Amino acid sequence: MTAERIFNFAAGPAALPEPVLVRAQAELLNWKGLGMSVMEVSHRGADFVAYAEQSELNFRSLLSIPDNYKVLFLPGGATLQFASVPLNLTQPGDSADYVLTGSWGKKAKSEAERYITVNVAADTAASSYTTIPPVAEWALSPDAKYVHYTPNETIHGVEFHDIPDVGDTPLVADMSSTILSRPLDIARFGVIYAGAQKNIGPAGLGIVIVRDDLLGHARRETPGIVDFKTMADSDSMWNTPPTFAWYLAGLVFDWLIEEGGVQAMEQRNSAKAAKLYACIDASDFYTNRVDVHCRSRMNVPFTLKDPSLDQRFLEESKAAGLANLKGHRMVGGMRASIYNAVPEAAVDALIGFMQDFEKRVG
Ligand SMILES: *Cc1c(COP(=O)(O)O)cnc(C)c1O
Repeated sequence: MTAERIFNFAAGPAALPEPVLVRAQAELLNWKGLGMSVMEVSHRGADFVAYAEQSELNFRSLLSIPDNYKVLFLPGGATLQFASVPLNLTQPGDSADYVLTGSWGKKAKSEAERYITVNVAADTAASSYTTIPPVAEWALSPDAKYVHYTPNETIHGVEFHDIPDVGDTPLVADMSSTILSRPLDIARFGVIYAGAQKNIGPAGLGIVIVRDDLLGHARRETPGIVDFKTMADSDSMWNTPPTFAWYLAGLVFDWLIEEGGVQAMEQRNSAKAAKLYACIDASDFYTNRVDVHCRSRMNVPFTLKDPSLDQRFLEESKAAGLANLKGHRMVGGMRASIYNAVPEAAVDALIGFMQDFEKRVG
């Protein structure tokens, strides 16, 4: 690790792979020998179009995306998709099922309610979002146009480790904080979307993977930039796409391929998470309240036995080169986000610090 960089456990915008930043820096002034940066070239020029196409191919190969799915690179992060999904998949009067296992699912639901009737099929608010009920207990409705869920709840640290079986209703997933962290059976989904700033690249960019039979059914008033078909037909260049974010995402895909793809990421990520949860569970000083079967491999919230020590923990961890461990205000305590770009050495350093801190003040 470069001397002036520290371990970054931020939830998002989050750590990027250091080799990606080094390469972006090296290419910044003169991209592909053009004598200008990638930010300064036309998105319709041959160089950027070729780069964009290759980045999509790499993304498709990383996730083994079947040919009957389109991949879109869109502005607006994940939040725009909270509205795009109902605008593309429903007509006035329709309804959809939402499964709420944390705050992001709740936010997706509120946005959808501008357009449709939302049936809450499951809601774990009563557990303070620390569990996932079995699909057999979900109140799915037969006329739902889709079922929406959040495979990894970034704030509460709750992750589905299996894809729920909802029959023939299209399954829609907000994968912002778990995409590319492990292999994925894309064919089980109707729509997958993700904001980039956790596991893909810079904030602002969103990626949508949509099954092609779901294209072309948007409401009449759907803005073009939100209409999956309009964007698919124009290779995500109906407007000027966020080219620099797209470029950086492409560098992240190159890095992932070099590192062994999502299979290698899954191994690393499970090893990183297992160590950190083992450290928490071995102590009476640290606690993670999420049910073991649905603990997140990406976001690990934990509390200290005595919350009056939180500030000291944060100050001392920062001084030890471990940044952004403060938990979300809704949950309190700490949260270590350990996405693909956070190396195992960072987790080892965190565990070392936690054990030492407990010994000194616990
Ligand atoms: C971060 C996050 C979002 C919001 O992403 P934006 O890019 O800010 O729109 C939505 N859903 C999940 C699960 C997230 O982690």
